[in-house]
Amino acid sequence: MIREEALEQLDAFVPRMVSYAGERNRVVPGHTNVSRLSPAIRHRLITEDEVAAVALQHHGFGAVEKFVQEVYWRYYWKSWLELRPGVWSSYREDLTEFGSGARRAADKVLGGHSGIEIFDYFANELISTGYLHNHARMWFAAIWIHEFKLPWQLGADFFHRYLLDGDPASNTLSWRWVAGLHTAGKNYLARASNLEQYLAPEILEVNRGGLERIRQPAPAFEPTNEGAPPPVSLPDLSYGEPLGEKTGFWLHEDDLSPELDCISDSVRMAVVISSDLQDEHRYSPLRCDWISSASAATAARLGDRAECLSADDTAAALVEWAEGHQLKTIVAYQPWVGPVRDRLPEMEERLSKSGIELRLIRKPADEVWVPLATAGFFGFWKKLQRKHPLLKELT
Ligand SMILES: Cc1cc2nc3c(=O)[nH]c(=O)nc-3n(C[C@H](O)[C@H](O)[C@H](O)COP(=O)(O)OP(=O)(O)OC[C@H]3O[C@@H](n4cnc5c(N)ncnc54)[C@H](O)[C@@H]3O)c2cc1C
Repeated sequence: MIREEALEQLDAFVPRMVSYAGERNRVVPGHTNVSRLSPAIRHRLITEDEVAAVALQHHGFGAVEKFVQEVYWRYYWKSWLELRPGVWSSYREDLTEFGSGARRAADKVLGGHSGIEIFDYFANELISTGYLHNHARMWFAAIWIHEFKLPWQLGADFFHRYLLDGDPASNTLSWRWVAGLHTAGKNYLARASNLEQYLAPEILEVNRGGLERIRQPAPAFEPTNEGAPPPVSLPDLSYGEPLGEKTGFWLHEDDLSPELDCISDSVRMAVVISSDLQDEHRYSPLRCDWISSASAATAARLGDRAECLSADDTAAALVEWAEGHQLKTIVAYQPWVGPVRDRLPEMEERLSKSGIELRLIRKPADEVWVPLATAGFFGFWKKLQRKHPLLKELT
């Protein structure tokens, strides 16, 4: 996908934004009631603010409040995890500790004969298209955890590998919420009656086998009563000075929107497709293709000053690129908590051995809004509504 396609998809969804609040929970063939913009927003081909601005330019706030709120849910999750990076690292650590028994059990339910046909249908939809509707994600995760009693971490990993919008924050935190580990006293159970209400009959009727198993679902374990870990303080990464000579800009999969006042037209840019990182996290071929084409399109959009590098070793590719252009400093947007961020310490060390400094900056909006995710979504949303230029005079 390229940025222009994402913007066209956003425009095409404008008329449906008003019926979104009433229709969004229905799972229908073709998913026409939702925007399907998530991969583009996840990789920042377009931003949350751009999506909200288009919604509010065409409709009154009241008509699209639910849609705009959902768009900022993603931003909230990212910000929440940014303030609590330990939740991601302990999930990653847990994943290394499961033995072959747990992994075999997980593979078995993903083999197409789990005993609940609609679950098999969703697994196949995800693998073959890279997408699942939000309600289907909730049902799938709930069946995985509470009915099949499989570790939530292995389910989250499956989603993260196959979803085109696979996102460390939205994904990990949603799985934890379904399990009952995120919000005190709350979990989410998939009920047959809820599927019958919200799933299109043409999908459900041919996938009814095993539905009786979730007529009266019970939780695998009681929801936690622990509160969230306390937020960490964020380093000040705001940018100020224009980027100097001998400085290049590295664009990675977390942010493919390079526009910033501090980047003059002469700054060289490298959009890097990090195969080493994709291999480590076992992204599906569809997901890798999506990232590759979005990265190549971003480089093409930037013109002659940008290159798209396919790298089996991201640090080595950046060193070679920097040396080729006599660059002494590489600047990049601070990656969000997740795979790219995890690589930074090693990359910094290797760049520095070649005399290249890696400097991280954060976009002005991220600098302001991320620290607001100190507690629940609705507190974040209220603060955003009070302060955000797009939202503040609308309620
Ligand atoms: C178990 C589980 C795992 C999930 N994993 C991911 C993930 O890896 N990546 C991801 O982007 N989303 C994830 N979500 C959130 C949500 O399902 C998707 O963002 C949404 O379905 C994307 O489809 P859409 O673009 O058609 O959404 P729309 O309904 O059209 O919403 C518009 C935009 O709002 C945002 N949004 C909507 N719903 C949510 C939500 N519940 N949480 C956060 N943002 C939301 C997305 O950016 C989305 O593109 C997960 C949800 C669950 C329950």
